[in-house]
Amino acid sequence: MNTDLQDFSHKRYNILTGEWVLVSPHRTKRPWQGKQEDVANEARPAHDPDCYLCAGNKRINGEQNPNYKDVFIFTNDFAALQVNTKQFSLNEGLLKAESESGICKVICFSPDHSKSLPDMDVKDIVKVVEAWQNEYQTLGAKKEINHVQIFENKGAIMGCSNPHPHGQIWSQSSIPNEVLKKHKSQKKHWDAHKSSLLGNYLVQELQLNERIIYQNEHFVVLTPFWAVWPFEVMIAPKQHQKNILEMNMEEVTAYAEAISVLTNAYDRLFNCSFPYSAGIHQAPTNGEANKHWHWHMSFYPPLLRSATIKKFMVGYEMFGTPQRDITAEQAVDRLKSLIK
Ligand SMILES: [Zn+2]
Repeated sequence: MNTDLQDFSHKRYNILTGEWVLVSPHRTKRPWQGKQEDVANEARPAHDPDCYLCAGNKRINGEQNPNYKDVFIFTNDFAALQVNTKQFSLNEGLLKAESESGICKVICFSPDHSKSLPDMDVKDIVKVVEAWQNEYQTLGAKKEINHVQIFENKGAIMGCSNPHPHGQIWSQSSIPNEVLKKHKSQKKHWDAHKSSLLGNYLVQELQLNERIIYQNEHFVVLTPFWAVWPFEVMIAPKQHQKNILEMNMEEVTAYAEAISVLTNAYDRLFNCSFPYSAGIHQAPTNGEANKHWHWHMSFYPPLLRSATIKKFMVGYEMFGTPQRDITAEQAVDRLKSLIK
């Protein structure tokens, strides 16, 4: 390993977004006097009568949830995007706007209020993955839907308003900013080399074995070289697949296993139910071949050095470039040691 990366300030390039991150490993020695968040480690009941996501309970709009047994999906009662919105555009001088329509759904991972992904059996995570596949396929097949964003916001620290284990699926007519950056970088590489940008990167990482946290036959779990968040992790298929529909049953199980291994290591890291935002980036559903896409799932956790110390993206990071102190390799060593 290049030891300069562990000792001196440098910037690392994100091949997927074309952006840089500033890494300052010498700063990890400075004393911490920042904000301490309260830890919310209290045990939750399997069913909470006041939770609007629990089976059989009433939601805020008055609808009653069924007595679901595994995964339950419904259209968000307070969606940021709606189907029947007015179509319009504005082009006045330097002012530009376009109407945006879409469908937002909520996916409850389990009827058990107390179980987040790391607490679930792999066979139950498989059901969540199958539901993601189903939604990506049916939403993406709609003419007006050109992108399907699957994500999970976990923990009050991430602004998650309900502790019941759930994720969201926002589908819309345009391709969002973060996806568009990766779309362009992968296309450029594909056109030049006729091979997958992320696939080629994974080959290099597997050879180096410096940032791999875990792998099974079909998936790699690693901290990307260019990671911004202290314990950022990516799960990616070893095979070049443009979207999650290309997984066969064996691969779905291997993916669910990778999610389980990672989220359990996360919970052990600071001995808490580890908060994060996780999302799947995959080929847009815009009717094009999108062969250049190599799907992957990214986890962006905000915790820095304990369950109560959060990393903020402020100051230089708001006005300049994201910055991190502990290196990706140091984070990998910590997480790797927590895998059972
Ligand atoms: Zn609940």
